[in-house]
Amino acid sequence: MIIGIDDTDSKNGMCTTYLGAVLIEKLKSYGTIIGYPLLIRLNPNVKYKTRGNAAIALPLQLKSSKDVGQIKHIVTATVEDMAVFSDENTNPGVVFIGETGVRGKMLDDLSIFSRRAVQDVLEIREALELLERYGISYHGYKNMRGLIGALAAAGFALSGLPDSTFELIAYREKKRWGTQRQIDDDSVWEADAASSPDTWDTVDYENKRIVFAPHSPDPILFGIRGKSERAVEHAFSLIRSEAVERYVVYRTNQNTDMHLIQASVSDVRDDRSYILNGRVSRSPRTIEGGHVIFEVADGRSALECAAFEPTKNFRGIIRQLHTGDEVVVYGSVKDKTLNLEKIRITSLSQHELLNPLCCGKRMKSVGRGQGYRCKKCGTAREEQVIETVQRNISPGFYEVPPCARRHLSKPLIRFEATVAASSCARWHASVQLIDPHEQERTLS
Ligand SMILES: [Zn+2]
Repeated sequence: MIIGIDDTDSKNGMCTTYLGAVLIEKLKSYGTIIGYPLLIRLNPNVKYKTRGNAAIALPLQLKSSKDVGQIKHIVTATVEDMAVFSDENTNPGVVFIGETGVRGKMLDDLSIFSRRAVQDVLEIREALELLERYGISYHGYKNMRGLIGALAAAGFALSGLPDSTFELIAYREKKRWGTQRQIDDDSVWEADAASSPDTWDTVDYENKRIVFAPHSPDPILFGIRGKSERAVEHAFSLIRSEAVERYVVYRTNQNTDMHLIQASVSDVRDDRSYILNGRVSRSPRTIEGGHVIFEVADGRSALECAAFEPTKNFRGIIRQLHTGDEVVVYGSVKDKTLNLEKIRITSLSQHELLNPLCCGKRMKSVGRGQGYRCKKCGTAREEQVIETVQRNISPGFYEVPPCARRHLSKPLIRFEATVAASSCARWHASVQLIDPHEQERTLS
């Protein structure tokens, strides 16, 4: 049986992954988890998300089918006990998919639904339609929005994840919730050094920060992300901290870029995430708050792209872009602006259209279509001139630092992992690479 659960947490506490950890223990005597429990990150742009937009699925091999009723009771009672019902944005959903009768059309429909829950914006009624059509047992609370993520997570447990990583999540003793986390900083840096590049996003070298522990009052002590159970367990064994109440290793779609849709600039819609090819059509400018904005176009449409202030040093790369540079941008679109997660600069323009030079200064535009004039000597020119420009960046792949990484975003270190020779490279905010998609094609 597969149990899917979503939307039990709130911005101020709890965490659906913790509820999963508690349930795993409660259900131990009824069966065993097949493989790993799943942690599924859904579309990061949906308006109603609570915190990280995480759903979980527990694929359970039952000892006896007689226990199904009892198991359902334990799950719903635990959700009712632990979910933050007081938060208006918390609308829990639970689904149970039996072991038999899952095939053909149902599997296809669930698989499509699951992917859409990560890339698209779904309605509650779409989840209800599928649940009813296939006679799937469910419990929806309040407005039942959580059924979307619960069904999506269960769907991935059935159809499998095309790409996945692992996260070991350690939880705090309840008496410590809301207090400052006691973690030995040195041990965290040591654990990272000993397990990188098989683990990532534990620390942020460039910004000299530990980034694997939240600061919210929830039950999570920290989470270690990596490519295998062994890698995250190894790092975990090296960390000294306050008592760990329990921990779980989840298989997850985090750090896989599953949310990204390859599309054209003209196809872009708000609240989805994309990989877009284009040319820089307006040079970067820094706006209030330190955000850097530029525009890409693909000949038919144009779109603003932003490296927001929290992306820190990544903005230094973005500021170096010029009109005419060819780029591939990766990120989520909100309010008609793409929030950059990564950028691949494929070609740098060596020429730039500039106002003519005169008396050691650029001429000023007289007005639209009226040419240019030197302020000092009065010389006039009709057109701008093409000049060769000195570039201070190289073509390559650049990403935001770990402190600004979104859950679903695939770090370059995972692309890099396919190239054995560079596996010893130290973490940097910007890493230059060959096209990962080409690598993947070659390897497959
Ligand atoms: Zn002049």
